[in-house]
Amino acid sequence: DRPPHLQRNFVYIDHGDDVASVPIRVMQWNILAQALGVGVDNFVRCPLEALSWSRRRSLILEEILAYRPHILCLQEVDHYYDSFQPVLANLGYSSHFCPKPWSPCLDVEGNSGPDGCALFFDESRFELLDSVNIRLSAMMIPTNQVAVVTTLRCRSSGRCVCVAATHLKARSGWEWFRSAQGSDLLWHLQNLVQELGGGNSNVKVPLLICGDFNAVPSEEVYRRFATSPLGLDSAYKKLSQDGVSEPEYTTWKIRGTGECCCTLDYIWYTKDTLRVDAVLDMPDEQQIGPNRLPSYSYPSDHLSLVCDFSFREKE
Ligand code: NDP
Ligand code: CA
Repeated sequence: DRPPHLQRNFVYIDHGDDVASVPIRVMQWNILAQALGVGVDNFVRCPLEALSWSRRRSLILEEILAYRPHILCLQEVDHYYDSFQPVLANLGYSSHFCPKPWSPCLDVEGNSGPDGCALFFDESRFELLDSVNIRLSAMMIPTNQVAVVTTLRCRSSGRCVCVAATHLKARSGWEWFRSAQGSDLLWHLQNLVQELGGGNSNVKVPLLICGDFNAVPSEEVYRRFATSPLGLDSAYKKLSQDGVSEPEYTTWKIRGTGECCCTLDYIWYTKDTLRVDAVLDMPDEQQIGPNRLPSYSYPSDHLSLVCDFSFREKE
């Protein structure tokens, strides 16, 4: 009796070779904190019943299991200890969670604790080398936004990859703040890959940065990532015809204050060391439906981003 899931397909990127590779599947998703969804967001076209935790919990887990990513980056997780950590641990995932210092979930009656970023990885595919929780700063001042940065070693190839999951400050008027937070994250990552390379700048550690940046592609923080000396590119550009534009939306919702259809979520990767083999397409307007997201068929106002990557040959 449940409504159909959004049917999405992978778009395979032709590299003009037939080298058999076992890709690394990466999923980025702001799952919508339960406390914010029912207590703050005011999704006026979404029935409260569709927002019940039991329904949403099932749909979120089904979405994750439908794609079975090796690396999973989630934002707005306010049910880590009671749901995602134990359920995904049973499925072979190891994980790290970083709550926001002053989560707005805590202001909602009946909340389940602070929301934060969580990073999961498939233990059969990767070995944990290190994980750090970072509180992002803006102009040297600690902020309410965080990142989880986990360094992994691929068990089959022996190659390392450093993965970050983050959620930058929301709302308009805060563009400069997001840019400063983004710069801080890039600074941390730069230091980390330098350390991992043993100070040798020729050793390039592959990087993946997944997040709800709360920034459209025209914002300064996007430009900072796109032009960073780390050599990053945004994976979802591969979906576009020209290969240079972001999707039209990664979130689509109607609040009391109006409709919001925009691209805020990204998967950044180091283009020298990783290549994109496949990208999960975005559902079209008709699939999303007139009431937009979340809905009975989709549990978050943000769509999941799923990509397959493989390591490039070393020079
Ligand atoms: P953000 O502005 O980053 O937003 C927090 C969350 O609200 C995000 O998950 C965001 O979702 C969601 N959101 C964004 N826009 C809207 C909207 N129009 N309607 C509903 N939800 C929205 O918040 P901060 O992390 O900076 O924290 C702000 C809140 O945290 C304060 O209101 C306060 O409650 C609390 N706080 C308390 C402090 C204290 O000292 N006690 C200190 C700092 C914060 P998305 O990313 O999907 O857009
Ligand atoms: Ca939100």
